[in-house]
Amino acid sequence: MFLFPDRCVLCDGTVWGSDGGLCPMCRPMLIYSREPRCLKCGKMIGRSEREYCGDCLRIKHFFDRGFSLFVYNDPLRKSIYRLKYKNRQRYGYHFGKMAADHLGNEIKEMKVDAIIPVPLHPKREFSRGYNQAAVIAKKLGSELGIPVLEDYVLRVKNTAPLKLLEPGQRQNNLKNAFIMGQYDVKLNSIVLVDDIYTTGSTIDEISSLLKLHGTREVYFITVAAGMEK
Ligand SMILES: [Zn+2]
Ligand SMILES: [Zn+2]
Repeated sequence: MFLFPDRCVLCDGTVWGSDGGLCPMCRPMLIYSREPRCLKCGKMIGRSEREYCGDCLRIKHFFDRGFSLFVYNDPLRKSIYRLKYKNRQRYGYHFGKMAADHLGNEIKEMKVDAIIPVPLHPKREFSRGYNQAAVIAKKLGSELGIPVLEDYVLRVKNTAPLKLLEPGQRQNNLKNAFIMGQYDVKLNSIVLVDDIYTTGSTIDEISSLLKLHGTREVYFITVAAGMEK
């Protein structure tokens, strides 16, 4: 087998191999999201007798259901930062493969027509050189044999980074941030792909737009989500 140097998604150290993207030291630091999970957003919840997390009990979501691959922790926070801001596009490929391996069954059960990455504003995508969500989505799609439609939804407002805003400001900030792209096909069921799930405001905004335009079921997959204590 031909081996080439790759980088570990967590420590950025060199790993050798054709796939994987994780060094043996870092492997135990990734915590796969598992049951008990919120039946709506997929976030891990501490107590198994509950069906939904506190957020999903309070907020009416527009998406139908979602899953995250990992519990958001400090090593992942740094990893996703490098994926977005330090040109580590390759991490997205690895996360896409991991999502296919660990959430493949959940995604197959969704029976979606297409995978749609959460779009970046063209200006931001140009300066970054890629949309990290699209990198993840393309690998996920090629692994599972599901088409990926990158421009089905477009971001037309270059919004302030959500982490700088209070939860109340987030939804306002996203108002009219997305429009439908120029597609003739109508998709009945889709899965959105993004890097992190926090309050779900971005996923909700896109879901409500899609449902307004005839998509009946909207699911999502993210690399990481927080865990409810
Ligand atoms: Zn490592
Ligand atoms: Zn939830």
